[in-house]
Amino acid sequence: MNYLIAANWKMNGSKEFIESYLSAINIEDNPDVKMLICPPDCYLNDINSNAPTIISRGAQNLSTSSEGAYTGEVSSEMLIDHSVEYVIVGHSERREYHNETNDLVAIKFKRSIEANIKPILCVGESLEQRQRGETFDHIRDQIESVIKKDMINKSDRYVIAYEPIWAIGTGETATPDMANEVHVFINQTLYDNGLTQDNNVIIIYGGSVNSNNASDLFKMSHINGALIGGASLDAYEFTKIYNVAEEINNE
Ligand code: PEP
Repeated sequence: MNYLIAANWKMNGSKEFIESYLSAINIEDNPDVKMLICPPDCYLNDINSNAPTIISRGAQNLSTSSEGAYTGEVSSEMLIDHSVEYVIVGHSERREYHNETNDLVAIKFKRSIEANIKPILCVGESLEQRQRGETFDHIRDQIESVIKKDMINKSDRYVIAYEPIWAIGTGETATPDMANEVHVFINQTLYDNGLTQDNNVIIIYGGSVNSNNASDLFKMSHINGALIGGASLDAYEFTKIYNVAEEINNE
């Protein structure tokens, strides 16, 4: 895989929405460019019944436990039962609204690797951290405290999403150079920590990606796709972004 184009629907969608959304998506199987949809868990069955299998299924969160008295939680085993291949961990909205710390994200990351679900680890700095020149230190800390060497023997078992918090849902995107600089840094950090032997980790960008800015981002050396919130709720727009990745992949 060269590009991962992932939809994070967040808490959006309905049965009706899914039906019309999926009928508008028309893509061919392409092993180089993968499409992923992460709906709310309660709609995974609707995706499973109606979406072609070339679209990967994902979840937006998982529990740190495997079963028991944890009201409202969903375990990795339950996600596997619903054909989930990827799970988003450490999204900034969960860090902010659900007080998820690096330690908690690390447990979720580990559970997901153990369950054979590929975690998409979200990292990214706030505007204040960027202005104070702390971007790289913050991201290094988020990576080093979550991904442990003994969990990983193959870098195709996880994905990193660089999502500057100031660009999420704001309409403000990092410039391609700015984003790529951080992606290069993430790649180097993984390498320095022995978390990739082959420099082959998929690092996607998230933060107000749409079909107008996708091309310049995807052309950058270390940007392997996108995690898309707002623009992924429009099936035509999401497909356009996917098609941009396919075009660049074919160049
Ligand atoms: C996100 O929430 O992961 C995201 C990138 O959202 P948006 O595309 O709306 O900025």
